[in-house]
Amino acid sequence: MAERMIVIGGDAAGMSAASQARRRRDRSELEIVAFERGHFTSYSACGIPYWVSGLVEERDELIARDPKTFRDDFGIEVRTRHEVTAIDLDRREVLARDLDGGGEVRAGFDTLVYATGASPVQPDWARDDVSGVFGVQTLDDGAALIGWLEREPRPRRAVVVGGGYVGVEMAEALVQRGLSVQLVEQADQPMSTVDPDMGELVADAMRATGIGVRTGLQVTGLQERDGRISAVVTNEGPIPADVVVLGLGVRPNTALAEAAGLPIGPSGAVRTDRRMRVPGVPGVWAAGDCVESLHRVSGMPVHIPLGTHANKQGRIAGINIGGGYATFPGVIGTAVTKVCELEVGRTGLRERDAREAGFEFVTVLAQSTNRAGYYPGSRPMTVKLIAERPSGRLLGAQIVGWSEAAKRIDALAVALWNGMTVDEMTALDLGYAPPYAPVWDPVLIAARKAVDALAAV
Ligand SMILES: Cc1cc2nc3c(=O)[nH]c(=O)nc-3n(C[C@H](O)[C@H](O)[C@H](O)COP(=O)(O)OP(=O)(O)OC[C@H]3O[C@@H](n4cnc5c(N)ncnc54)[C@H](O)[C@@H]3O)c2cc1C
Repeated sequence: MAERMIVIGGDAAGMSAASQARRRRDRSELEIVAFERGHFTSYSACGIPYWVSGLVEERDELIARDPKTFRDDFGIEVRTRHEVTAIDLDRREVLARDLDGGGEVRAGFDTLVYATGASPVQPDWARDDVSGVFGVQTLDDGAALIGWLEREPRPRRAVVVGGGYVGVEMAEALVQRGLSVQLVEQADQPMSTVDPDMGELVADAMRATGIGVRTGLQVTGLQERDGRISAVVTNEGPIPADVVVLGLGVRPNTALAEAAGLPIGPSGAVRTDRRMRVPGVPGVWAAGDCVESLHRVSGMPVHIPLGTHANKQGRIAGINIGGGYATFPGVIGTAVTKVCELEVGRTGLRERDAREAGFEFVTVLAQSTNRAGYYPGSRPMTVKLIAERPSGRLLGAQIVGWSEAAKRIDALAVALWNGMTVDEMTALDLGYAPPYAPVWDPVLIAARKAVDALAAV
């Protein structure tokens, strides 16, 4: 009789695991059933801001594979609108509720993949009785927001609460739809994934595009008129709003795991080993936004919920479940984003992280341009490097600039991943032609500056 693999969560991590396991074991050996509480499988939450802005026209463009494709082409059964409500490790079964029909289903498993993702932080001031307030975690959230933006009377004033990458991407999306946008952030700068000096550059550039960036502001409540949002209340007074988007970060969905006794790590997410097995619980695997990962620079467990990790971790779990061998080597926190024309990239540790991890270090800021100064379209680029003292090993890097800025972080990520020193980096053979870089690439200029800073201390 075929073994049964149950997957909880039908998006990046869960369906990558299911697909990889299927590539190695056919239906006669392995039955695969995925439970997904939403309507969709393998969708790109990352694309929601570009769907809201109108750049992506159709919701379905954000769906890589639907349940029918999984069933017909891969022999993977997906039960959408089924929420798993309990995991019974002794009986090796899950209990799921049919969210449309209301019935309950029990399904036994030989192998379980826990891939429940993460959920947006819900502030205590959020209220169910006020319409016009949206999170943007799922395609249903995106559809609800678009529906509100298209309904009469059309919203004109938007407030985005939270200045992380989801918040800044949503601010851009709403500007592109013609709304007047205020972004409210309780910290002194938006983009807390970069250091405050780099966040300030992001704030300045956002303001220059007409987005109101209100920092150091606490949201304390919402005001409504006839049940519709009318203002966001802050410690400095109300900000009028016809629509509010929440981007306050996410927390790993661990409730089911905790109830079943799966180990939770210090970051608050599910623990796994390098093969994505849940330690001490045979036959149970976990991957994606619900798990913590090893940070290769600090050596600490971290929760960095990104699609790039979810896909890789799911793939690794699936290879192992399918009888192969693969390990997840950890993360260095590389991420890129853009807000209007401004691009932001980051990798490794911020100053705060480096301090907390106990490193001695120097930091440098290098100002340069994305192209040769004389080439049309040349614009400023700021590269920040954090290098260990006295070894010179790169610990972290951040870039803020215009076109060709964000993906330059990849060269720095490779250097960081491989433990290069800033001295070694000064000789990196990076590409040069006037349309793409000055003759000394901004990355090389920053590395030279870091070498000088190390020599000076
Ligand atoms: C607006 C936005 C923009 C983003 N942009 C980027 C980006 O540019 N780059 C990047 O790397 N990442 C980005 N991300 C993050 C990325 O989308 C996530 O890291 C990725 O989706 C995680 O995949 P996952 O499978 O672990 O979790 P999820 O995508 O959250 O999937 C988990 C699934 O499990 C289901 N589920 C949960 N509990 C249960 C249950 N009990 N029973 C049944 N089903 C359940 C959920 O409905 C969900 O579909 C973005 C996210 C958002 C919201």
